[in-house]
Amino acid sequence: MDAKDRTEIEQWLRETDEQRLSQLWTAADAVRREHVGDAVHLRGLLEISNWCVRRCAYCGLSADNRQMQRYRMSADEILQCVHEAQAYGYGTVVMQAGEDYGITTEWLAQIVRRIKAETPLAVTLSMGERPHEDLQTWRHAGADRYLLRFETSDRKLYETIHPSRPGQEYDRFDMLRQLKQIGYEVGSGVMVGIPGQTYGTLARDIELFRELDLDMIGVGPYIENPLTPLGKGEIDLGGPELIPKQDASATLKSHTVPNTELMTYKVVALSRIMCPEANIPSTTALATVNRANGRELGLMRGANVVMPNVTPMEYRTKYEIYPGKACLNETANQCQGCLKGRIAAIGRELGTGCGGRRKKSIDAI
Ligand code: SAH
Repeated sequence: MDAKDRTEIEQWLRETDEQRLSQLWTAADAVRREHVGDAVHLRGLLEISNWCVRRCAYCGLSADNRQMQRYRMSADEILQCVHEAQAYGYGTVVMQAGEDYGITTEWLAQIVRRIKAETPLAVTLSMGERPHEDLQTWRHAGADRYLLRFETSDRKLYETIHPSRPGQEYDRFDMLRQLKQIGYEVGSGVMVGIPGQTYGTLARDIELFRELDLDMIGVGPYIENPLTPLGKGEIDLGGPELIPKQDASATLKSHTVPNTELMTYKVVALSRIMCPEANIPSTTALATVNRANGRELGLMRGANVVMPNVTPMEYRTKYEIYPGKACLNETANQCQGCLKGRIAAIGRELGTGCGGRRKKSIDAI
């Protein structure tokens, strides 16, 4: 099964035949094995702040969510968790936060420098839309990777659910290009089944993963958060392309993507086939919609990374992007034990080292 064009991708997204789907899983698994091997890389996820200046209609961290108790970890707390991640054998620490300007450029640069001086870990940042100077400063401080999902390539839908701050328009595609140019390994991705997302746009999203030559691709099902405008059904999604699932006519309904577990596996599998060398996590959102074996199925259908949470309990429960997150009550130690067991049970190996993208050498092409 070769790389595909948008029409073929869309057909796969609409596929319901179980036998055909099992061919898709097999093909994605074979591409994964051939290009990135059997290793599953573990990235310790550290949610360093839940402050956010943005008002994204889907996300619980939104500045409009007054019910949320806000926190920002101290530098020492962060370093302690990073050392814990190292002790568990993780090769990377991923620091994620809302768009929080209380995280100043220099403060985070200093933390990155400390991590690089004290550990051999790769550092991934996911801080939202920050000015070019910040991205550059953090890269110079030693940060290796940056994650910024473009969420959907449908501009109108994106602007509706992810409003810009007045006078602060950032284009995430532009940012992804900048990040690459600055020398980061770059990750992006989308939510699967956001209200108003059509099969056509989702197919285009997957095609874009390849055009952007992403090093990492993160996809997970959209999970409704009742504390958000989308969750409350308050958002007017406008024209026919943007009618939410629950209000759509039967015909329109068939054009919008459900936020299901199955649809997410299809996107993971197609992403692997389109981007054979990328690092693709089996995400927490996937584990949330299928606690029994969502993570394993993601790994068996194209993924090669998992991101165990190393955020201290007291903060983790407050990083509530969506409700009912998997593994919320497991300590970092329990989480690593559980995940290592799950990886072994499906016959995969634990990754060693930083697990960066392995690009084909020029000689090999
Ligand atoms: N502030 C950073 C990190 C955001 S949280 C940024 O904007 O990049 C990380 C990811 O969680 C988001 O990119 C989004 O894709 C996902 N997310 C947010 N709300 C969600 C929801 N309700 N369901 C599923 N995923 C969600």
